[in-house]
Amino acid sequence: MELQLIEKSDHDQFVQNLISNYQVEGVKRKDGSFLYGSIKAPEELCLDFDCTAIPPRKYFLPPKETLLQFALTPDLEATPVIENDPFILFGVHPYDIKAINQMDRVFARGVPDPHYLKRREAALIIGVDPATVAPRSFWADMGASTVSEGFDLMLTDVGEDFIVEIGTNKGRTLLEEYAKTRPATRDDARERVKIRSRISHICKKRGFAFPKREIPKLLEHSWKEPLWEERAGKCLSCGTCNLVCPTCYCFDVQDDMDLDLAHGERTRRWDGCLLHDFATVATGENFRETRASRYRHRFYRKGLYLFKILDDMACVGCGRCASGCLPDIADPVNLFNKLREEEK
Ligand code: SF4
Ligand code: SF4
Repeated sequence: MELQLIEKSDHDQFVQNLISNYQVEGVKRKDGSFLYGSIKAPEELCLDFDCTAIPPRKYFLPPKETLLQFALTPDLEATPVIENDPFILFGVHPYDIKAINQMDRVFARGVPDPHYLKRREAALIIGVDPATVAPRSFWADMGASTVSEGFDLMLTDVGEDFIVEIGTNKGRTLLEEYAKTRPATRDDARERVKIRSRISHICKKRGFAFPKREIPKLLEHSWKEPLWEERAGKCLSCGTCNLVCPTCYCFDVQDDMDLDLAHGERTRRWDGCLLHDFATVATGENFRETRASRYRHRFYRKGLYLFKILDDMACVGCGRCASGCLPDIADPVNLFNKLREEEK
């Protein structure tokens, strides 16, 4: 592992150099929340946030995108629309990088999705270790305190300086061209380990009361638990828990014709399994009509169906669903701990 050091007094110049040469997207403070957006000046970039309201997945899977344009005459012609403008995503916490790594695997499986994968290839990711922990986060218990891949550079705030781990050659080039650095010493590396374990220890106060690897087994015989009905009775079917989740990626695809009835386009937009019409099919049949069936599906998806593909839960412990759910029934920690208790 290669570690360099950027003095904080040189950091703004580094960010400015990136802004002058790339489109830079990063975390900004807005009305007491943290949101990803375009960074036009170094002082706009916030690196000491606890958790952003929305994860960075919109950069790889936009809320709405055109997949292809088509013409019906004289013969059917379809032209794919692929966006792959290079950009820098600056300030991504390790749990969100873990989520991106999971999404990379999902979108590369079976028939690879060029729309997602090309955007992903075009991105340079500069991660940052969390300096504080959001009240509902439990990423330490999900093994997402640190990541070993999925970033080009990873910053850790160690007081007067940032220690920078180089993740890829692209990251190394970025540092060489745009930052004033010096090699980190052994003491710097030790300080980084200390800071990381301190913050991880704080986060560990929330988590599962049993090993997370037991969740698929727990779910295999929990299908008829009354807890699903009990909790779902409060569900507003608002879909917030889906929309704020970095590992939710379901979408709906639609074809629209132009007024000339000869041309059109195919678009996709985010969808959410908690929304009433998510499972409605062409005949009008809705095979998850009840709130309880939709509520239960979300937890089976994260803890069993995707577990079989990823060999891990499709949850990185960001806690956004827990903070965003008005009746407070979306938190995986509360749900799985309660389910385990009912099992006994
Ligand atoms: S579980 Fe909560 S956030 Fe999710 S749809 Fe229901 S009310 Fe909305
Ligand atoms: S399920 Fe909730 S805590 Fe887990 S990754 Fe999604 S939003 Fe974060």
